[in-house]
Amino acid sequence: MTRYVYDFIEGDRSRADLLGGKGANLAEMTRLGLPVPPGFTIGTDACRAYLATGSPPDGLFAEVDTHLRRVERQVGRRLGDPHDPLLLAVRSGGRYSMPGMMETILDIGLTDATVAGLAARTGDARFAWDAYRRLIQMFGRTVHGVPAEEFDHELAALRATAGPDGPDAGQLRDLVSTYQKIFLRAVGHEFPQSPQEQLRQAVQSVFASWNSARARIYRRQEHIPDDLGTAVNVMAMVFGNLGPDSGTGVAFTRDPATGLPGVYGDYLPDAQGEDVVAGIRNTVALPELARLDPASFQQLTGVLATLERHYRDLCDVEFTIERGTLWMLQTRVGKRTAAAAFVIAAQLVDEGLITLDEALCRVSGAQLGQLMFPAFDLAGAPPPLTVGVGASPGAAVGRVVFDSAAATAADGPVILVRRETNPDDLPGMIAAAGVLTARGGKTSHAAVVARGMGRTCVCGADALVVDPDRGEFTVGDRVVRAGEVISIDGTTGRVYPGAVPVQPSPVARYLAGELDPQADPLVAAVHRLLGHADAVRRLGVRANADTAADARRARALGAAGIGLCRTEHMFLGGRRELVERLILAEGPDAVAGALAALLPLQRADFTELLAAMDGLPVTIRLIDPPLHEFLPPLAELTARVARAEASGRDPGRDGRLLTAVRRMHEANPMLGLRGVRLGLVVPGLFAMQVRAVAEAAAQRVRDGGDPRPEIMVPLVGDVRELAVVRAEAERVLAEVPDAPAVPIGTMIEVPRAALTAGQIATQAHFFSFGTNDLTQLTWAFSRDDVEGSFFGAYLQRGIFEVSPFESLDTVGVGQLVRLAVAQGRATRPELTVGVCGEHGGDPDSVAFFADAGLDYVSCSPYRVPVARLAAGRAAV
Ligand code: PEP
Ligand code: MG
Repeated sequence: MTRYVYDFIEGDRSRADLLGGKGANLAEMTRLGLPVPPGFTIGTDACRAYLATGSPPDGLFAEVDTHLRRVERQVGRRLGDPHDPLLLAVRSGGRYSMPGMMETILDIGLTDATVAGLAARTGDARFAWDAYRRLIQMFGRTVHGVPAEEFDHELAALRATAGPDGPDAGQLRDLVSTYQKIFLRAVGHEFPQSPQEQLRQAVQSVFASWNSARARIYRRQEHIPDDLGTAVNVMAMVFGNLGPDSGTGVAFTRDPATGLPGVYGDYLPDAQGEDVVAGIRNTVALPELARLDPASFQQLTGVLATLERHYRDLCDVEFTIERGTLWMLQTRVGKRTAAAAFVIAAQLVDEGLITLDEALCRVSGAQLGQLMFPAFDLAGAPPPLTVGVGASPGAAVGRVVFDSAAATAADGPVILVRRETNPDDLPGMIAAAGVLTARGGKTSHAAVVARGMGRTCVCGADALVVDPDRGEFTVGDRVVRAGEVISIDGTTGRVYPGAVPVQPSPVARYLAGELDPQADPLVAAVHRLLGHADAVRRLGVRANADTAADARRARALGAAGIGLCRTEHMFLGGRRELVERLILAEGPDAVAGALAALLPLQRADFTELLAAMDGLPVTIRLIDPPLHEFLPPLAELTARVARAEASGRDPGRDGRLLTAVRRMHEANPMLGLRGVRLGLVVPGLFAMQVRAVAEAAAQRVRDGGDPRPEIMVPLVGDVRELAVVRAEAERVLAEVPDAPAVPIGTMIEVPRAALTAGQIATQAHFFSFGTNDLTQLTWAFSRDDVEGSFFGAYLQRGIFEVSPFESLDTVGVGQLVRLAVAQGRATRPELTVGVCGEHGGDPDSVAFFADAGLDYVSCSPYRVPVARLAAGRAAV
């Protein structure tokens, strides 16, 4: 018979697929002998069965009963015992953490019959009735969708009339009876008086919450598969709201924002667990617990140290203190900022807990990319409006909006300002550049979600009075209205009026050689891990650069050459006219004259580029785009010619340009006269470029340099195209004295080239995958149009999770890459193979290219460090 339920002591952290992250880690803590309340976990397979059929699998609740008996024996209380009832917490917990996205129901087991037993055991009738009203509200909302406001309204009314100590036990008993009426009215039957029935319904509603709208949105955002299902953890209740010697909190083994050592967290005395995460009341910093309850604090720091040594990583925990006894309710390897990831990984190496290889796997190229983002330049910044908790770093500037709808509808960057956030704010948090809340600490929903998404967040700015109805917030007597610009600093927690200018990050400055590697712990950690990545990686990293300035920058960032110089960029600006002259040239002499005018300019470009990359390969691609891209747009020319003709003037050059534009018009220019085709039909164009390369290289040789140019032919689809162009190029190269040997290769960016790579390699010294065009032509997606067009719908419908222009489609386009590598090397074993499409700077794609056996990736200069790190990770 299939088994669905596991006592905590039966599991361990390796079983997160089945037990969910929370269940697996509760099991691990139980095994470590840490103080975990007794309980059991219903596996994710039960949830999947429930979601498939709409009802729990056969035998599930019989199994639950067996495990419940064990919990009852351990705790020494029975569910439903009117004298001393066991109460249960029922919590969701999937394979991947989805903070606040699914359901939790506490205090299961309270009924009209058992509430008095709880009051008697705790000696606190007020507490017992308060727990009962919490249960009815949570159960009503979660299991039956009764709006929380219906209950809140009554609670608020009671609080308004109660004395300074809040409602007494009698008033809370009356409130429970009001809640039961609300429940009956909304649901159509009485609140269940059978604890077993409560448990069964709670478990099923947790299963169902896997498919709640907010959980789905969160999974899409975080790329979590939809078919995993959640586990359900059933645990004996412990209470943090039993007076001043009780409380609840969240703690980290190191600072999750900076990675620096120490004990960090939030504590809320006399409160129930969910109150902290919800950010409903403001917490105190954890060190305060050392004063309030030194024994529990000491025990907690001991638990944190045990966990960190055991998991060999930053852990976070949720805990509750019930009348001086510490209980651990959850742990996991904690989310952290990108900066903290680097700092912690390096520290754990120093502490002997992990190896450098492991440390490299604990950071990602994407995180390094985030760290290169700029921060505020505070010179001349206005004084802050207020200071909150810096909960997720970054410098965000945007217009103030007060709800998700406004955030998602806005044009341009916005800052979502909320009193506190809840899971319904998720779409707004995704759309916003930054999030600012008045309530909640570093562990509030806003903070946890924002950190996970890399979104800048300041929370707990309690001087803010947020009034969404009036569309404004106030700080003292200062009013900020919706639409006004503010700037928030997720590191310091400062909130500024207006747009504060931003400056480069220390990591970016270090990478550019402007800061000492030991400048601060973060820079030192980046230096160390990137150094290790360089030591272990097999994949080379070059840059796409068209100017000497870009080439120098790329070299400083660690590029080992240029993988793509797009020569067409050299024909823009003032040189456009020379290209026009070439296009308008009639007869061989006029063509030769136009090319002769371009030659010295190209030669100078290449000389500078080769000097900047002296000693390193520089792949120069012959001109690629359709030539009419250098001509004025048809509409503009037509208007100019019409104006001239209307006023009786001769349109002259404009007239000839218009004729040329009309002649060269193509319905699909990207499939038209471009790339190698230009070389074949515009006589002398490629030859001029090859001559410029050869003469520049010869000059560098004569000047004592070490030029390593390579010539690359774009858009080849057939070996014969390449053969013709290569023969011409070699003729030209042979004519230039002192020119070094220049390898001639091709881009593989047309599917046919990939499919016939074995033939093409007979004519190519090297291949470079142009994955932009290869993606465009394999998918038949216009790379210039899709983003604003139907890609939104594709992403929304899960046809892909990320644009194939951003991260390589390894399943489809990747097949062509693998095929071409294999065929090319079969023909020419020494063939050098690289990639120069945008994917060369995308960490996931880099991992694929390493696996596919490429020699190098080439990407924009700023992505070079990201690619170096990703290549290192791919090698360990
Ligand atoms: C490519 O197609 O991937 C490529 C690098 O060339 P371009 O982006 O210039 O078309
Ligand atoms: Mg291309």
